[in-house]
This record gives sequence, structure tokens and C-alpha cells, in this order.
Amino acid sequence: MPASASRLVLKPEREKSLRHRHPWIFSGAIARVEGDPASGDTVSVVAPDGAFLAWAAYCADSQIRARAWSFEATDTIDEAFLRSKLAASVARRHRLMGEGDAMRLVHGESDGLPGLIADRYGETIVVQLLSAGAERWRALWPSALVQLTGATSVYERSDVEVRTLEGLAPRSGPVMGEAPAHARIVEDGIAYDVDVARGQKTGFYLDQRDNRHLAAALAHDAEALNCFCYTGGFSLSALQGGAKRVTSLDTSEEALDLARHNMGLNNLDASRAEWLAADVFAQLRKFRDQGRKFDLIVLDPPKFAPTEKHVPNAARAYKDINLWAMKLLAPGGHLLTFSCSSAVGPDLFQKIVAGAAADARADVQIRRHLGAALDHPVSIHFPEGEYLKGLWLQAA
Ligand code: SAH
Repeated sequence: MPASASRLVLKPEREKSLRHRHPWIFSGAIARVEGDPASGDTVSVVAPDGAFLAWAAYCADSQIRARAWSFEATDTIDEAFLRSKLAASVARRHRLMGEGDAMRLVHGESDGLPGLIADRYGETIVVQLLSAGAERWRALWPSALVQLTGATSVYERSDVEVRTLEGLAPRSGPVMGEAPAHARIVEDGIAYDVDVARGQKTGFYLDQRDNRHLAAALAHDAEALNCFCYTGGFSLSALQGGAKRVTSLDTSEEALDLARHNMGLNNLDASRAEWLAADVFAQLRKFRDQGRKFDLIVLDPPKFAPTEKHVPNAARAYKDINLWAMKLLAPGGHLLTFSCSSAVGPDLFQKIVAGAAADARADVQIRRHLGAALDHPVSIHFPEGEYLKGLWLQAA
């Protein structure tokens, strides 16, 4: 039996999520595998009665045993098919946002391309191949992305832990053209250099674009505090928005160096910026002891809960930083607080923050619920895609 004819036959009652177009097929839902598919091969997924459900990329190693490319029996999963998916994904961005030089072009499952991430930074596109299916077609993505965007180089940053779950080794390096060490982007009139080879994720947090814009709007005359500042996104936005002073915290000296470098690229008043290599958990307590107050605080921590089992510890950590941040808010002050853990859903996050407010005896109102920018859509069939959630709170 050729690989493409391999079939996954689901157990009774286990086809519902696939009928609802959720792209993941878990190993526990599979009654039997017909044929001998290798990881990355396309298989058909069928109901116990043999009815077609999906075409999917098989993964022998992962609990997520297959990820759906298509729910149409008449589709053929080949280069032309994947190229057209990619083109549609890029075209959606260009229609909504113009052909900007800093945007996520492909957002994995939510764009119908499970495991594929592609971010554009200037003339460079950074890709992450996070699934066996995305890996199987690795030769296709760089040239297709360059063709669709006019970018000149592609750099791979598949050096992430999740690849091991798919039986894939971490990988990174240039795959097409010559990527500069730093790719220059401009967002809302602010220039940033993005370290595509060594930065976090693909180098920059494009998902926070709209929230940086909001921070700028709230920053006028503010004493601002940016916790987990990384390369300075929220800090430079607050400076541009007219903050009196911006204090930024991160434990990574390397991130702070690039943040200071980024500040120098822009016509901003460096004397109003204070960069501290500090642990946020400890520093918030110090500020409390010093009696400092802030009109604008941003809390954008790393993913405290990489998986479900980390949720209890993550909840404690989120509660702690929110509690201490609320104690530091000046009357009428704003707090932009985020979680990028998929395993902590929006309801749970709000509950945690409410608990923090109660313990801090802080009277705060929700001004707005916040999320990722337009180029990070959430497929309605894939709620896990809503990883970034935030609250804009204001103290009474
Ligand atoms: N807000 C940033 C992205 C934050 S990424 C932006 O918009 O670009 C998370 C950052 O938290 C990383 O730079 C990491 O170095 C830093 N970090 C992780 N744990 C920390 C801690 N306990 N204290 C301070 N910084 C921390």
C-alpha cells in the first residue's frame, strides 16, 4: 500500500472533533493504522464506518498522531495544494494590513498549515517547522514564501523543545539567501533591530503590536513600568507616547542590550529610560518597599505554563506578579497584564487576576480584554490558537 493510501481508522464516538474541523487527531482516538505511514506522510482519516473525515500529516512519535491539512475528500495534498494555502495565508495579511515589513505571515493551525510559523522581518523571513507534516514539506516553504513576498532571505528557527515531541531534532540556521545578523523593522514609526538567529521565538513579539500601540496611547506624562521588557517593545512605545519616565525590567542582559540599542535607533529621550537587569518577582517587592508608584504598568511574562500540568504553579506566578503590580498602581493608573500560556484560558486568567486584586485590596476595573494582533488569527475550530490573552485594567 503506498503511503498516501494509508488510513487512520478512528474508534467509535471519537470522530466528533474532526467533524467539527479541529485539526488534531490524538493517538487515543485511533482504532487502527492501515498501511505503514512514515512521519510526515499524508494519510486519510476515516470514521469507524469508513466515511472520509480528513487528510492529515501522520506523526509516529507524537500524542498528536496526525494533523489535518484538509477536510475535503477531493483535495490532493501536494505542492500545489500547500502552495495555494500559503498564498491564501499571505494574501489575507496583505489585504488587511498592507505589505508591511513586520508581520506574521503564517500562524500554524489557525491558517490551515499545522506546525508552520512564518514571520517577516524586513527582507528576512523566519520560519519554524514544529510538526512532522511541516518538516516533510521543508523544501517547499522558503522558495514559496520568497516568491509570495519579495523577501530575499529565509532563516530557520526550529530550535524549540516541541519539535522533540514530534520526533524531530532542533534545527536552526540560514536556509535561503543571507539573513543579516539584525533585521531592521519599523512598527508604528519605531525602528527595532530583530536578532533572528538568537532572539526569542523568531526574534520579536509581533503578537503584541496592538497592545504596544495602546501602551503608547496611555503613556502620556506617565511614570511607566515595563516588566519582562525583552528588546524594549513596550518601553519604546511608552517613551514615544510621552512617558515621563519608563523603567524596564528583564533578567536577560542580552535582551536589555538590544533594547538599549533599539532605543538608540530612534529619536527618543534616553534620559527618561531606566533599564534594570532584575527579577520581576523580587523587584516589584523592592519597589513596594521604596514606596514607588506607577501610572502605567505592563506585565508580559514568558509562558509560565508550557503544558497543562504546569497550570497550578503558573497560576501562582501570575497571581503573584499581578498582586504586586496592583499594589504599585497610582490612583487612576493602568495595568496591561498578559498571559501567553495556551493552557491558561481567558476565563482562568481573569479569575487569577481577580484573585490578585482581592488580595491586593485593589479596586480595579476592566477597561478592555486584549489579545494578539490581526496577523495572529484564531481559527474558530482551534481555540488552542488563542494563546495570548490580556486585560487592560484601571485603578479607581
Ligand atoms: N514584552 C516583550 C516580550 C516578553 S518575553 C515584548 O513585547 O517584546 C519574556 C521576557 O521575560 C524575556 O525577555 C525573558 O528574558 C524575561 N524574563 C523571564 N523571567 C523573568 C523574570 N523572572 N524577571 C525578569 N525577566 C524575566
